[in-house]
Amino acid sequence: MIARVLIDGPSELVFDYAIPEGLAVVAGCRVRVPIRQKTTSGTVLSVTPPPEQSEFAMREVKSLIDPEPLITPVLLKTARWIADYYGSSIEGVIRSILPEAVRTEDNSAKTRRIATAVADPDPEAVAKLEKRAAKQHAILTILLHAPERTMAVADLGESTAPSLKSLAEKGFITISTEEVRRDPEADETIVPSGPLALNDQQQEAFEAIKSSLSPTPPIPPSPYLLLGVTGSGKTEVYLQAAQSALDLGKTVLVLVPEIALTPQTVRRFKARFSQLNDQVAVLHSHLSQGERFDEWHRIRKGTARIVIGARSAVFAPLPNLGLIIVDEEHESSYKQESPPRYHARDVAVLRAAFEPCVIVLGSATPSLESWQNCLSGKYHLLRLDKRADAHSMPLVRVIDMRLEKQKQKGQVAILSDRLRTALEQRLAKGEQSILFLNRRGFARSLQCHSCGHACTCPHCAVALTYHRTDERLVCHVCGHQSIVPKKCPECKDPGIALQGYGTQKVEEVLQKVLPEARFARIDADAMRRKNALRDILRKFKSNKIDVLIGTQMIAKGLHFPNVTLVGILNADLGLHVPDFRAGERTFQLITQVAGRAGRGELEGEVIVQTFTPHSPSIQFARKHDFDGYAEQEMEMRRQFRFPPFAHCAVLTARSTHERRAEFTLQTLHLRLKEDLPDGITLGEVLPSPLIRSHDQFRFQITLRSNKARPLTNHVQSVLRRTTLPEDVTVVFDMDAYNFS
Ligand code: ADP
Ligand code: ZN
Repeated sequence: MIARVLIDGPSELVFDYAIPEGLAVVAGCRVRVPIRQKTTSGTVLSVTPPPEQSEFAMREVKSLIDPEPLITPVLLKTARWIADYYGSSIEGVIRSILPEAVRTEDNSAKTRRIATAVADPDPEAVAKLEKRAAKQHAILTILLHAPERTMAVADLGESTAPSLKSLAEKGFITISTEEVRRDPEADETIVPSGPLALNDQQQEAFEAIKSSLSPTPPIPPSPYLLLGVTGSGKTEVYLQAAQSALDLGKTVLVLVPEIALTPQTVRRFKARFSQLNDQVAVLHSHLSQGERFDEWHRIRKGTARIVIGARSAVFAPLPNLGLIIVDEEHESSYKQESPPRYHARDVAVLRAAFEPCVIVLGSATPSLESWQNCLSGKYHLLRLDKRADAHSMPLVRVIDMRLEKQKQKGQVAILSDRLRTALEQRLAKGEQSILFLNRRGFARSLQCHSCGHACTCPHCAVALTYHRTDERLVCHVCGHQSIVPKKCPECKDPGIALQGYGTQKVEEVLQKVLPEARFARIDADAMRRKNALRDILRKFKSNKIDVLIGTQMIAKGLHFPNVTLVGILNADLGLHVPDFRAGERTFQLITQVAGRAGRGELEGEVIVQTFTPHSPSIQFARKHDFDGYAEQEMEMRRQFRFPPFAHCAVLTARSTHERRAEFTLQTLHLRLKEDLPDGITLGEVLPSPLIRSHDQFRFQITLRSNKARPLTNHVQSVLRRTTLPEDVTVVFDMDAYNFS
């Protein structure tokens, strides 16, 4: 048989080697292989029968590094599916599955020497020791009082080595070697928690999940979608379901959008399972190579039975997996924006089917993809409609900024009177506030400040993007163009203007209006410094900050009991980007953000500032009405053929040479058009909304298809047949989430 081996190192080299008789090489094994005059290590990607006839003798695999393959058969199957579905190389997928830290040998476990005193040493012998060898006696005394009479030799100090040797020879102590776990969270203290008595709806959801958990599920159980309003106690359901899986001797995988932004969720899992000691592994992005290596092997061996991590943790090598939980399943951070461009939620659903195991997707604002799967019966819907702690949902007020603008005499209104007064009240009472600013749109849209009208494409219903160079409005889905109106097409007011301001501007305004308040800003700029986010969140938690200003990155599962006011400054900005998910994201943002208010004993208030108070995503979010929102949004998606009713992919070409990027994409466009399979809609070649980034010009084509595979296959086959100019990079993004 032949092994195809990915050589370690950054070069992505892949070579074939013959497998010698008697060497049990399977896919996922780590092997040593010859390369030129040297021996190196690599990972086996596949094992296939030898070719019929070979012209030259193939070199042989030298030896196996680990007896067991690093990749489980399920993960290998998952890897093949990802490569196929997203059109990426299998090598790239294997790289994601096996982090470099794991593929590199020098990260292997560290050991240390420890000294342990024997229990109850003979008192006479000890007395003798005290007289004759005072130093040895002192060390023995220290050890006898240490926890479990054990200390690391290093901690006793270099100079103790001869004394320890004598003590060992005299039989007072033993010296041994143990593996050191590089514990990334060794210095954290966790207060254990017990299970809460579930309310009726929680109980019902829990029972359903539990009934699917069995030591050997006969067929893959269908995925559960747990739709629970913010604060409805979804996490408690996850915790108890996890406990049930553990009770069956199974392991549990918990995916969260981002570890640093969901500290509460992580802490609650640790607190609940603290009695299991080392059995919870948290896969942070900031783990050192050594820590990553150790955590990975603890998981692989089944020592760590609960794994919490972000996107790439979907590949955690848990044996005997019983339950996968995907918290905040709608979050777009589950989509990887570099190759392989997989969506961790979708991969998790697939892995659950392959294992087979139970999977629960949870959210207060599910993605329409998952919602559609519930409607079609593919997923099983579980609902929690009330807050678990009997607090009412916060009151959401919508402020019409068109009126504010008139009051503020033509200036861009940032803070409405209502929001300013509310902030002052909170400050006076010593309560805290959070202000959200929608991420500054990469694309600039045009909106009337008098009537709120925004310019959208008549064919696609997405916002038109302003292009300064040729003074045009362009649709980034279909290519429709129109001139820039001088007056609002609706109300004829000349006050139609480009949208957008940043977090710094907000901070400036606030400092003027509330000079005595303590502010902190959380955005990508302010977060460059290491631990900046953690420090700010800690300060906020301990009431050292009055007002937190942030982009939507802080809308995820934060929990601050003293926050009673949440303001959304520019709810529109996210609404008018050239992305069919703009409305969905705005609905999610408002709902999630509103869920941050009133988490404690105090009642919460949410103020949403907008130029389009009538927009459905704002109105349904105000009423906490997911069903109503989903219904009208689905109608739009169906009508314009967007996901979940079609797959949408983006093909991007970028280069420092503008013309070459455009020309390359036009060539690809022509070839894609030839024998285009049925059911695929090919868009035009257009400059990307973010036309220039990192000194590269970018052009893109949007493709839509009823079925995923024909689309990926068609694009891949064209790409294989086309030789690209050296300085042009082409990227295919299947099920794209980013249209910039
Ligand atoms: P979600 O994950 O849906 O946002 P949480 O799990 O954070 O909701 O629950 C919100 C609050 O309600 C938490 O403080 C939690 O401890 C509390 N809670 C959850 N379930 C119960 C219950 N059955 N009884 C009492 N309190 C509960
Ligand atoms: Zn259009």
